[in-house]
Parts: sequence; C-alpha cells; structure tokens
Amino acid sequence: MSGVGKGTTCSAISAILKAKGFRVTAIKIDPYVNVDAGTMNPTEHGEVFVLADGMECDQDMGNYERFLDQELPSANYMTTGSVYKKVIEKERAMKYRGKCVEVVPHIPLEVIRRIEYATKNSNSEICVIEIGGTVGEYQNILFLEAARMMRIKYPGNVLIGMVSFLPIPKKVGEMKTKPTQSAVRTLNSAGIQPDFIVARSERRLDQKRKEKIATFCNIREHDVISAPDVDSVYHLPVNFEKDGLSQIILDKLKLKAKKDRLKPWEKLSNKIKRLKKTIKIAIVGKYFNTGEFILSDSYISVIQSIKHSAYANDVEPVLDWVDSFDFEQNPKSVAKLDQYQGVVVPGGFGERGTEGIVKAIQYARQKQIPYLGLCYGLQWAVVEFARHQAGIKRANTSEVKPHGPDSVIDILPDQARKLKHHDYGGSMRLGIYQAFLKPGSRARAIYKKTSVWERHRHRYEVNPEYISKLQKAGLVFSGYSQDKKLMEIIELPKEKHPFFLAVQFHPEFQSSPHQPHPLFMEFIKTGKALKYKK
Ligand code: GLN
Repeated sequence: MSGVGKGTTCSAISAILKAKGFRVTAIKIDPYVNVDAGTMNPTEHGEVFVLADGMECDQDMGNYERFLDQELPSANYMTTGSVYKKVIEKERAMKYRGKCVEVVPHIPLEVIRRIEYATKNSNSEICVIEIGGTVGEYQNILFLEAARMMRIKYPGNVLIGMVSFLPIPKKVGEMKTKPTQSAVRTLNSAGIQPDFIVARSERRLDQKRKEKIATFCNIREHDVISAPDVDSVYHLPVNFEKDGLSQIILDKLKLKAKKDRLKPWEKLSNKIKRLKKTIKIAIVGKYFNTGEFILSDSYISVIQSIKHSAYANDVEPVLDWVDSFDFEQNPKSVAKLDQYQGVVVPGGFGERGTEGIVKAIQYARQKQIPYLGLCYGLQWAVVEFARHQAGIKRANTSEVKPHGPDSVIDILPDQARKLKHHDYGGSMRLGIYQAFLKPGSRARAIYKKTSVWERHRHRYEVNPEYISKLQKAGLVFSGYSQDKKLMEIIELPKEKHPFFLAVQFHPEFQSSPHQPHPLFMEFIKTGKALKYKK
C-alpha cells in the first residue's frame, strides 16, 4: 500500500548494493496516467522532484538520488501515461510496421525497453526498479507483466522483492501475517513469486512470524527481511544489513561483493542516534486542508536538506509548520518567530497566505533571524524588500497581481505565451542552469566557487527593470545567469544580517546525507550559533 516505504526500501537497497562496490541505478514506475508528476498537486501526491535534466517526477526519485549520492536522468522515471504516449507516438510513426499494436505485449515491452535503456545508458551493473501501487490493483498489472516477462528474458538476473505491511491490530496486540500471505497469492496469480520479502511493521519480526511467512509464502525464512519503523530513514541501510539483505541479493544474482563500504552509513546512523542538541526551524507557507503528515511529504526534499545539514552540524532539527495565513489574520502573532533559529519559506504557487509570508520575511529580516528563501521564498523576499526598503509600496508579483503597478517579480516572456495556450505540462523553466556568483558575496564565499549549477522549477523571475533600484536600497544580487538577465540569488551583506539569503532555484534537490548542500549548511551553522531567544 502507499506510504509503506517502497521508495525508501528501494533507496536503501540501492545504497547497500552500491556499498558492495556495484554501479547501481534506480527506476521509479508510477502507475498514473499523468505523463509526469509536474501537473499533480503536491498536497495529494507529495513533492514534485526535479531532475537535473528537467524532468518533474515523483519524490522517490529524490530518495534514490539522496541514498545513491548520484544524479539520475529522466530515463529512470516512467508513468503509465508516458509509456502509452511513447507507444502511440511510435505507432503513428509506423515504427510497428503495420502490426496490430496491443496493450499486451506492446506496453510491457516498452516498459522493458526503458528499463534496458536506463541501465545501459548509465553503464550500471544493477538496476533497482520500484513498481508503485499495490499488488492486486488494476493500475500496475502491466508493470507486473513486464516484470514477469523480464524474468524469462533474463533468467537468473531478475529478482522480485515484495514490500509488505504487517499490521499489529491494537485489540489483538499481535503481528498479523495474513495480508502478506494474501498479497503473495495475488502476486502469484500475476505469474510472479517474490524472491524476498521486506516485512514492514511497527516492530521487528519475531521468529514465529518469519516462519509463518516462509511457510505460507513459499519462501525461505532467511529471505524475509525485518523492516521495523525507524525514526530516520537513514538507519535503513544498516538495518537491512542486520538481516544480510545485500548478501541475499548478491547470492541470488550469483555476484560477489567487490567492496564493503557500509561505514559511512553506520557512522551516520550512530550519529543520528546520539544527537542531543536541537535546532528549531520554522517552515512558513500557506498550509490549509493539509495535515502535518501530508506537509512532510510535500516538502520532503526541504526537510531532508535541513536534516542533512543539521546532522553535519551535530544538531537534531525540530521543524514546525507555520501557517502564514495566521499572520494575516493576526499580524502580532508573527512575533512567534522569535523562538526559531531559522526561518525557511519554501517553493509555492498562488495567492493564499502570501501577505503573511511577507510579514514573516520582514520580521526575520528586521529581527536578524536567519532566513533562507527557496524559489517562491526569493520572490516574496524581493517583494518585501521592495515595499519596505526600496519605497516601492505597491510592489508585488504578477502571479498574484497580474496587472499591478509594480511587478517586481514578473512572468518570463516565453512563459506568458505557454500559459495563454494552456501549455502547462513540463513547461516551466526546469532543470539545471548555471548561476554566476558575484565576487565578494556571501554566496560565493559559501559555495567557494565562481559559478554553480542548480535545479529550477518556476515561471516567474525578478523583473530586470527594478534591479538597480533594489540594489541602491541595499539588496545584493549575488547570483545571476551568464547574460545577467536572470537573477538567481539575493542576499543581505553580513554586516546587515547574520544570514539572509534566497535563491530562485531549488538547492534542496541537490543535498544528500553524505554531501549536505552548502547553503543549508551555512544556514544551519548560523542558526546553531544563535542563542535561543525564548
Ligand atoms: N510560483 C513561482 C513561480 O512560478 C515559484 C515557483 C516555485 O516556488 N517553485 O515562479
């Protein structure tokens, strides 16, 4: 079922196989008809993760990149929609040479072709593939069919793992294996027998449960991996290795480990367990009709990036979701930001809560609270600065006020054309672009580079007409495109503020536990050095 941890399981499996010295890549298959994740609402589907090449995809791709510490291309993500689209395009181009094109086998064959391409193209030895959805549901049958066919095509080289949930009903107090038994039967009816089962539950599996699963699911006890709930997903590689998962997989694939490099994961896991000091960070945005659980899914890369940097700075982050709409209703309540050692305004769209965001940014700026703005968080920081420091009282973004008098943030010209034609899918400014860093700026000192490549997902930009006015008022544009037309980073000088920096891109898409992002590192470091005000 969704949320059981298939994505993190695949990520951790990828990580432990990489630690054994193999070149590993990972693929996510989403059963949706959407061609990519870009048009899906993040509060329903979770974060839209952006790959370096601009593909908007499922958040699990982010997990894979963070666990593998490597960039993945768009070839590694597919949906039902994208597979069908390709097959139809090929049919229109006579690529099937007059044959009748059928759901089976042509759709599974296209899935297999993509898996082969993604593996070869990245020169990988092992490819970990996550099939989204639940066994038995209508949507992923064609992908299971592809898995079955691949097993025949590559005998001995394809393994199937099933991630299953073992509930512990409160009244009974005992872990139940029946749903897992039933799921395996369903998988069997698709012609697939799992080679190993990752048993997700609140607690570790006891011997009796392992035996039961083994007997009823046609599998060796040894191949049942216990995957109890964990406080941090970064314990998973070490936990899986407690049950010898990488060895199980390598034995079945008849491969020999080339290396044994689990140390960094062991170190990280031990460190996380030992953290004593905390750092309190407020993530300010428009949150309504969204539970805490959903929010942590919608902003997973932001949360993970904060965690990576906090761990590297030996602090445990305590994150609070602060609804900016409250600051509009009750402006005085913005003072509650005093208790935080850092304020983040993450990416976003639309009007709701944005005036509250302006209040929060103004407060962080005036009260010297470290501020990190991400995409929308840059745009509103520019609006705030324009209104309160540069005398542009009616400054706004044209996303919220389309024909306002002072659109300090305005739509990119080619974007306006796309919106006019309802060309919404995959049409934002997406993927990596180079930003040049201003000599003498904080950004340059933090990155220790003269230019950086960062990932983007936006339609609006700082309006060049206002740049010199904002600069005169003291705002530093410290990152920009080569032609200096697009502003990528803003900041306040160190003498004016301990850390006030915002970016038009999404650094959170390029942070990993073993390589935290430099901007998040500096943000957390500055916050950590501050005393609690409360
Ligand atoms: N809504 C803004 C834009 O389209 C910001 C997007 C974002 O935060 N990812 O430019």
